[in-house]
Amino acid sequence: MALIVQKFGGTSVADVNRIKAVAQRVKSEVDAGHQIAVVVSAMAGVTNQLVGYVDDISKLYDAREYDAVVASGEQVTSGLLALALQDIGVSARSWQGWQIPIHTNDVHAKARITGIDTDKIQARLQEGEVVVVPGFQGVAPDGRITTLGRGGSDTSAVALAAALKAHRCDIYTDVDGVYTCDPRIVTKARKLSKITYEEMLEMASQGAKVLQTRAVEMAMNHGVRTEVRSSFSAERGTLVVNEEEIVEKQVVSGIAYSRDEAKITLVRVADRPGVAASIFGPLAEASVNVDMIVQNVSADGKATDMTFTVTKSDLERTKSIIQSKKAEIGYEDLVAKDGVVKISIIGVGMRSHAGVAQTMFQTLADKGINIQVISTSEIKVSVLIAEEYTELAVRALHTAYGLDAA
Ligand code: ASP
Ligand code: MG
Repeated sequence: MALIVQKFGGTSVADVNRIKAVAQRVKSEVDAGHQIAVVVSAMAGVTNQLVGYVDDISKLYDAREYDAVVASGEQVTSGLLALALQDIGVSARSWQGWQIPIHTNDVHAKARITGIDTDKIQARLQEGEVVVVPGFQGVAPDGRITTLGRGGSDTSAVALAAALKAHRCDIYTDVDGVYTCDPRIVTKARKLSKITYEEMLEMASQGAKVLQTRAVEMAMNHGVRTEVRSSFSAERGTLVVNEEEIVEKQVVSGIAYSRDEAKITLVRVADRPGVAASIFGPLAEASVNVDMIVQNVSADGKATDMTFTVTKSDLERTKSIIQSKKAEIGYEDLVAKDGVVKISIIGVGMRSHAGVAQTMFQTLADKGINIQVISTSEIKVSVLIAEEYTELAVRALHTAYGLDAA
């Protein structure tokens, strides 16, 4: 007998029939003798609709009331699932975030979980009752409802699994696992049976939007074995685990791409101490996340170009901040460009292998694709290239690293 947390995303609970199907899936685990806590999302589209209502009434909304409104989607599905379970003879009860309680800080609309009191629900689980929990919500120290940021139900599920010391956290979604690359682009992409937390974190933050990044961080910090699987098939998905659990480590496990990048070049910046701080300090203060950075040494010892990337949504803000600091920074021209894509190869095996990046550079060179910016970390190499080459580059790299399905 094991304690399992099952999480069902919006498409898995999109209508009453799907909620009934979810109940059957929960029942099969209960029949197998397991203790089950279920975390649910709002029905597909509902959170967007609720956010829309808030926006329509007030552009500069009070985040406390935003939370009061948007948390309701999950409240509905938790009650409906408890009813669907009772209807097929499974003892079940819903528990809102404040009833458990799931404690968070008071940063409304993007709160962080600070602790979960498991006593009450543990007792119910031991009695064989299924505990149904709305994801995405918690309660602030002053007793008001909070939400965890979009996609936050994944984090609710992993946090609950950690607090309950669950055997596993199953994330049921509309994809059947984590792939070596986006299967919509690379038809030869393979489903991975296992991936490490670190790789998953890179895949998630690189645009492979399977799991909320914060949920992966939490799973890694607490060692929660997390399985991503489809609610529409009985097949096993992808298990996200510790590196030690993976026997055959691939040099490159996956390839991710992100179209959400924009490139800025400051032409002829002074080559002197403090110049980087004068550019990136004001951006950091404005919470602009800078991703890749390149700076050359100057040929004449005076001036050089500085290139960096930000997300597309931050581009306009970044331009105006940099322009307002033109006198302090001292540069000739600012050239901003979108139409770029960041492609990353990811794998823990890279730590112990040489020449991994070179394979990437050569593969792109063979296709005549120009690399604009490069950045590396211990388990990742990223390049920025022109967006029109996305498919070509990703497919060629997938083949080059031996990832293609047979
Ligand atoms: N319903 C919330 C959202 O759409 C939370 C979630 O589903 O993870 O963002
Ligand atoms: Mg989600």
